[in-house]
Amino acid sequence: MKIDLKKVSGFARQFCVDKGSKFRLKDIDPGDTGKIKSENKAEELLATGVKVMSQLQEKLYAQDRWSLLLIFQAMDAAGKDGTIKHVLSGVNPQGCQVHSFKAPSSLDLNHDFLWRSNIALPERGQIGIFNRSYYEEVLVVRVHKEMLKLQRVPEPLVTKHIWKERFEDINAYERYLTRNGTLVRKFFLHVSKAEQKRRFLSRLDESSKNWKFSQSDLKERGYWDEYQDAYQDMIRQTATPDSPWYVVPADNKWFTHLVVAAAIIEALSSLHLQFPEVTSEQRKALEAARKELGD
Ligand code: ATP
Ligand code: MG
Repeated sequence: MKIDLKKVSGFARQFCVDKGSKFRLKDIDPGDTGKIKSENKAEELLATGVKVMSQLQEKLYAQDRWSLLLIFQAMDAAGKDGTIKHVLSGVNPQGCQVHSFKAPSSLDLNHDFLWRSNIALPERGQIGIFNRSYYEEVLVVRVHKEMLKLQRVPEPLVTKHIWKERFEDINAYERYLTRNGTLVRKFFLHVSKAEQKRRFLSRLDESSKNWKFSQSDLKERGYWDEYQDAYQDMIRQTATPDSPWYVVPADNKWFTHLVVAAAIIEALSSLHLQFPEVTSEQRKALEAARKELGD
């Protein structure tokens, strides 16, 4: 299938932050839908995008060299789960691993903060999805500083520079991953406070959504401004040309899905993936196999 890459990548590029220093969250409107006027149009484009992604992933898997790490961060009810479900719906499950990061276990807390991510990284040829990630270490832990105590970092090392140091370590880690063939793409699903309220209310109103409601989500909503500040600083400090942040408008789920799909297609396309070439020796073996099959 031929696609107009310029058209597709345009969706994503306007929300890509690859040099964060001057980034301001308030410049991005959570209700933005770009030039897409209708949900139907978005769904049509997404269906094409999903097919293209599936073809690219097949090559990624066959080539078995590169891997792609997709990181999703957001406030509650911004739509991380739905985005992962819709955007990756066409991808072969064998080539894809989703990892959801919850509050750290006691085993996790016995290690440095990147330890648990390391063992969840995608293998070569795979797409790895982090539903939340080590970025929680500069988000929830920054908003609730008492969480740092649980980590038992030696006291002299816990100074006012700790967040800056964590940003440096994360940047170094992502540079290391990039240099080893793992492409890193990060998505902040940017939902408005009003839309979050609407979604929480629908979790209360609709019985099929009741299970999604959690009292702790409501508690975190009380720290909205602190989280927005932490997100903005995180993006400023960790958006780089090699591992950019996409700040994706998230009040309209159909637009969110489209932007994320476009960013993934662009990332995979940048690798110029090819099916492995067959050597002349392998070709001979294939011919011999054909004879043996009596063709
Ligand atoms: P959903 O609510 O859609 O199921 P979720 O990602 O919000 O998905 P929860 O189980 O509700 O999942 O929440 C996971 C919690 O784990 C979040 O509150 C998050 O802040 C917390 N968490 C994740 N990583 C860390 C970390 N490194 N340190 C402390 N808390 C963390
Ligand atoms: Mg939650």
